[in-house]
Formats: sequence, C-alpha cells, structure tokens
Amino acid sequence: MSLSITIVPCLKDNYAYLLAAPGTGLCAVVDPSEPEPVLKALKEHGLSLTHILNTHHHWDHTGGNLALKKETGAEIVGPGKDRDRIPGIDTGVDESAPWQFGSHQVSILEIPAHTCGHIAFVFRDENVVFTGDTLFAMGCGRLFEGDAATMWASLSKLKTLPDSMRVYCGHEYTLSNARFAMTLEPGNTELAARTKTVTALREKGETTMPTTIGLEKKTNPFLRPGSPEIRATLGMQNADDVAVFAEIRSRKDNF
Ligand code: ZN
Ligand code: FE
Repeated sequence: MSLSITIVPCLKDNYAYLLAAPGTGLCAVVDPSEPEPVLKALKEHGLSLTHILNTHHHWDHTGGNLALKKETGAEIVGPGKDRDRIPGIDTGVDESAPWQFGSHQVSILEIPAHTCGHIAFVFRDENVVFTGDTLFAMGCGRLFEGDAATMWASLSKLKTLPDSMRVYCGHEYTLSNARFAMTLEPGNTELAARTKTVTALREKGETTMPTTIGLEKKTNPFLRPGSPEIRATLGMQNADDVAVFAEIRSRKDNF
C-alpha cells in the first residue's frame, strides 16, 4: 500500500516529512530539525514514530533526533559514512547497503558536496526521493564540504532518476531560487511560468513541495549548465559543464 507523506514545516524555512505506511504501524520522519512540530503532526494524524531518517548531519536536519528517539524509541537511520556526526544513529546506510521500510525497498544515493556524507533516500516503488540540502526546487545546496565537480557529479546522479519522480527538499527556498534562475535564463518559458506559479503559492503561504525530477531538469539552472541561454548570459559558451556550474553556484552565493 502506498505511503502517505505529510509536510511538517520546522524552524524558519526547513521541512521535515512524515512517511506513514498504512496498515503496518510504520512511520518515519525525514530530517527533523526540532522535535515539537513533528510530535504535534504525529498526534494530529494519530501516528507513532518508528524511524528517523537523516539526509545529512547539519543541526537543522538532525536537531530533533535525540528528543524524538527518547520520546518514541524510534530507530535512527542515516549516512553510514557520517555516523560520527549523526546524533543517536542506529543504522548506517549507503549505496551498497540499501534499507527496507516495511515492504518498501529504499535505495540510497550518495550525493556529497554540501556535506561529504550527504545521501538521498529513494523510494522507487513510490516514485519519491528526499534530497535534503543537495537538490532544491530550482536550486542546489552550498558547497561546504566538496567542490563544484563533486556537486555536479551528485546532481548528475539525481538527474538519472525518472522525470516523473516526486522530489521533497530540505528547505523552502523556491522563490528566491526562481528569482535567481530568471537572471540567468529569462527566455526559458517554463521557468517563467513556474516562477509565476511559485510566487502565487508563496503569497498564500503555501508550500512549493513536491517538485519533480523532470520539472527540475527543465527549470533548475544548477541542472542546466549546458543551456545555450545560460552560457550566453555568463559569457561561457565554450566552457565545460563543471566550470559553468561553478560560476552559477558562485553567483548564487552572492545573489
Ligand atoms: Zn545542510
Ligand atoms: Fe539545511
């Protein structure tokens, strides 16, 4: 039976996600920044937490780990290569050690650069991926522990997922990302249309999650270093993809 996904806004602009597998008693939370909103959402939906999934070690993705574990006894699953930095971790996962959530086979993608241990959780049978702070709607994470080539390789890995796959990201940065994207590729009609859509959603205080891999491929400049328009904007017609990606990332850092 298919998973139900509940978006739980945390802190200023973080998202945690509740994944419930109906009829199994299984319920996971992805990237709990803080315990309170998660406990409130569990109560509202009559769910008991059994698992905590972390995409990476940053406090705004793991800050709720210990309190939630204490309160619920949930098992903490995170990047095995970053065990030392994941509070309370029980089970380390990586590309060679996938994970099973009830009847759901969950594959792990190692997508370093924002942090060196960063992973994505891919629920292939549900056509859903949780990308943490590596891929955002129209954006990508900052390069704290990897260079542009490493991030480009990580994003290229995510680009191989099916276009129809739904993507849930770690933050609501979509509107600012859209504004930045428009500076690079104003002639991209799908980007312009999406910018209108997300502007309207944010004016109503609504979430822009989820997005899809296909929509990101068409509108996210960080997945589009090959775009002739972006290259023309940057004056980098003949550069390689990594160099173009690096220039986009550094412009966003200063946007
Ligand atoms: Zn982060
Ligand atoms: Fe974050």
